[in-house]
Amino acid sequence: MDRRKGSGSRDANGGGLAEATASRLRFEDADEVGMEVEVEDCPAAAAAEEEVIGNEKTSADYYFDSYSHFGIHEEMLKDVVRTRSYQNVITQNNFLFKDKIVLDVGAGTGILSLFCAKAGAKHVYAIECSQMADMAKEIVKTNGFSEVITVIKGKVEEIELPVPKVDVIISEWMGYFLLFENMLDTVLFARDKWLADDGVVLPDKASLHLTAIEDAEYKEDKIEFWNNVYGFDMSCIKKQAMMEPLVDTVDANQIVTNCQLLKTMDISKMSSGDASFTVPFKLVAERNDFIHALVAYFNVSFTKCHKLMGFSTGPRSKSTHWKQTVLYLEDVVTICEGETLSGTMTVANNKKNPRDIDITLKYSINGQRSKVSRTQHYKMR
Ligand code: SAH
Repeated sequence: MDRRKGSGSRDANGGGLAEATASRLRFEDADEVGMEVEVEDCPAAAAAEEEVIGNEKTSADYYFDSYSHFGIHEEMLKDVVRTRSYQNVITQNNFLFKDKIVLDVGAGTGILSLFCAKAGAKHVYAIECSQMADMAKEIVKTNGFSEVITVIKGKVEEIELPVPKVDVIISEWMGYFLLFENMLDTVLFARDKWLADDGVVLPDKASLHLTAIEDAEYKEDKIEFWNNVYGFDMSCIKKQAMMEPLVDTVDANQIVTNCQLLKTMDISKMSSGDASFTVPFKLVAERNDFIHALVAYFNVSFTKCHKLMGFSTGPRSKSTHWKQTVLYLEDVVTICEGETLSGTMTVANNKKNPRDIDITLKYSINGQRSKVSRTQHYKMR
């Protein structure tokens, strides 16, 4: 999802933009580049289809339709924490799928539908709005599942389902910072429209977590860099750089405080509005150190399994393509072991661009060596 946005990486190549080439361009940006294209509110704009001549896609097609390109699906499929978790959930819990009607919301290549079909589902409806739906149809056929899986090309919000109700809704909707891209709304829409009363949503729990890190070196490289660029003062860009949460992997050694649960969402019950919230946090230092940033990450779980299953995208777990989300602080906080950095985090969809997320962080510490109280605004886009 535009989770799948390219971002800097501080791993092997020393903070270079290793993944910039795989950058997921977003169709909402059309206005900004002054392109006159009718843009649909779907991660894969139908506009792209009209521009495809024969089978040839132009770069403009992909600009507006990142999920139509196989690269993004390759990245997701190769994220083994993600894909194996879904596979294990499905194959180890046949009882959830055997003879059931399944709806795969945002099917992509159809991988989850194939797992479900193999686990004995009676029928799987795989909905996908990008051009990848055509590939999914072919993949389903090649693998001999045409009788069990029906791929429907279109937006979940617009298509007609051949059945009134489904027993299972499965989806991999999570974005960076869990909520970026706002695909959760699509899952909730499908749930309210088609899920049978005793039906299940997979996954059914998602939680957002927060911790604090020492990150002097990388903050210097990403933020202070603008102070002196080949001898010129470009510090006006610093403000913007500070406001943009950085999607990147954080080393567990950088963690200074405890990790705190911010918010749990029950996908089977919640409403769309529950994805906007203000929650308090209290981060207690586990050693004397400096804090440069707060780091958010999410966990998802499948509580309807025989045994609880799920995965974490936290810095102490095996890394995933979601990495973590780093929010740099204006202040360098000098914190002593046992002291608390406390505050609130507000998360809301941007009013103009509901796929963007506004985050407000209020934090304060009244410590031995640091007294700070501040409010910072961030925007994920
Ligand atoms: N299920 C696949 C793909 C997950 S990515 C896998 O696990 O590998 C999410 C997919 O949902 C993308 O392919 C995107 O195009 C699709 N999608 C997002 N919003 C959608 C909507 N409203 N209707 C239909 N498909 C949607």
